[in-house]
Amino acid sequence: ARQFTRPLNELANQINTVLSAIAGAERVFAIMDEKVEEDEGELPANYQIRGEVEFRNVSFKYESEDKTDTVQNLNFHVQPGQTVALVGPTGAGKTTTMMLIARFYDANQGEVLIDGINIRDYKRETLRRQMAFVLQDPFLFEATVRENIRYGRLDATDEEVVEAAKKANAHDFIMKLPYGYDTVLKADGSEISQGQKQLLAIARAFVANPAILLLDEATSSIDTVTEMKIQEALEELMKGRTSFVIAHRLNTVRHADLVLVLKEGRIAEAGSQQELIKKNGIYANMLKQSKGAAPL
Ligand code: ADP
Repeated sequence: ARQFTRPLNELANQINTVLSAIAGAERVFAIMDEKVEEDEGELPANYQIRGEVEFRNVSFKYESEDKTDTVQNLNFHVQPGQTVALVGPTGAGKTTTMMLIARFYDANQGEVLIDGINIRDYKRETLRRQMAFVLQDPFLFEATVRENIRYGRLDATDEEVVEAAKKANAHDFIMKLPYGYDTVLKADGSEISQGQKQLLAIARAFVANPAILLLDEATSSIDTVTEMKIQEALEELMKGRTSFVIAHRLNTVRHADLVLVLKEGRIAEAGSQQELIKKNGIYANMLKQSKGAAPL
């Protein structure tokens, strides 16, 4: 039996993203209100996304913000399968950029293109189905572990759920829970660790099998063993998918095809990590200050 109807499912997905990415209840309601009347594109719902993503002069401002644009004149272009690291201080616009890729908001100016097609031409469902979020504090339902993973794709079989959990390095800890996959999680997930929640979110993303991944690396302290499991699972998950990562680890930045350094809503620097080091600008400075060890 399906636990969630489609609209509820969509809403939960939005709340998931919003709650995890942003603090503050006013904002949650603001986003939900804005969603309601948004138009749907003409592309067939089953359009298969390859994962090319382009921003052309994208500017966007939250309605509640009265100052300048939240993000301004963003330009970048990535091919299917590439990894983009977003770095920069809190408030620079990293989360907002990810929200625009998932069309939680529409650009006020410029265009977001997926596979060369304006994001407004897609059906919302198409985007939701082929993009997955793995955020710092994943949203869990008061439901079994199995249902929580299956939430990535509601028609996944039990075998597919277990398969995904294995790929996510989550299977072993799940088997140690009192009822294994049938263990009912509390809505706040208090009986499993932060790291284990992330592994479940990764399993959920494997089940979804999306073309585009939107990741926010954990900054909170997670034990070393779990951290290694997360890193390994994420590397596997990112293979062959276009990935946008709000990066807090140098290693992620090192392996990115493109690093976007955001500052006050603008792309201050862009390039590979090597190019940015050569440039000896903002990123190089951040690197020096972090002494190669501390989070970005
Ligand atoms: P980052 O992820 O780099 O920390 P964000 O994209 O979250 O940055 O935020 C960019 C700016 O937009 C900040 O000034 C933040 O306060 C503001 N902001 C973020 N979300 C909202 C929202 N829902 N409504 C109004 N302002 C927002």
